[in-house]
Amino acid sequence: MIIFVGRSNVGKSTLIFALTGKWVRRGKRPGVTRKSVEVTWRNKTVVDMPGFGFMSGVPKAKQEKIKDEIVRFIEDNAEDIELAVLVVDGKAAPEIIERWEKRGEIPIDVEFFEFLRDLEIPTLVAVNKTDKVKNLKRTLTYLAEKFGVPYSQIDEIFIPVSAKFGKNVDLLAKKIWEILEGKAPHSTSKTT
Ligand code: GDP
Repeated sequence: MIIFVGRSNVGKSTLIFALTGKWVRRGKRPGVTRKSVEVTWRNKTVVDMPGFGFMSGVPKAKQEKIKDEIVRFIEDNAEDIELAVLVVDGKAAPEIIERWEKRGEIPIDVEFFEFLRDLEIPTLVAVNKTDKVKNLKRTLTYLAEKFGVPYSQIDEIFIPVSAKFGKNVDLLAKKIWEILEGKAPHSTSKTT
């Protein structure tokens, strides 16, 4: 099983469609409960998890509940989850992370990344919407620092993509299958 996690609106559905050709989009107006959706890609189950974090129009308690459900799903299924793809909005993420840190909180993306690593689930970070990112190298370096990923591993873990324009989607697919087939030396791999 492969899971896709990320805040709402980062482009998870668009990315899954670009990768698999399967459309997972559904009623996504704020306030509409988003359930996880499964599609099959080659011989794997791909699960699009509900978006976590702030959604305009959704009360904070509801957001917390969705987050708790995602955490519980991942904990309960950790044995079956071969890979997680954490999708972030390359344009918005640095700004959002900064804001959380200023409040003295752990940014939710960072928290999920650490959570997945603690469960020893191999995790790739798809840095999406790169068409809107001016200085990609700087963004990737910034994210790596915040996620606690050594400089030398940036290219193994952070994959810059533009789901909407199909950019680097093939590279992400390659990285995903290298990990699934045990060919990639991945720092969070269960086999290393
Ligand atoms: P989800 O809530 O994470 O599933 O996000 P969606 O896939 O529904 O995408 C949210 C919005 O971001 C939509 O308007 C998409 O068209 C847009 N989007 C997705 N990927 C990209 C991208 O690579 N570049 C840009 N500029 N917009 C994107």
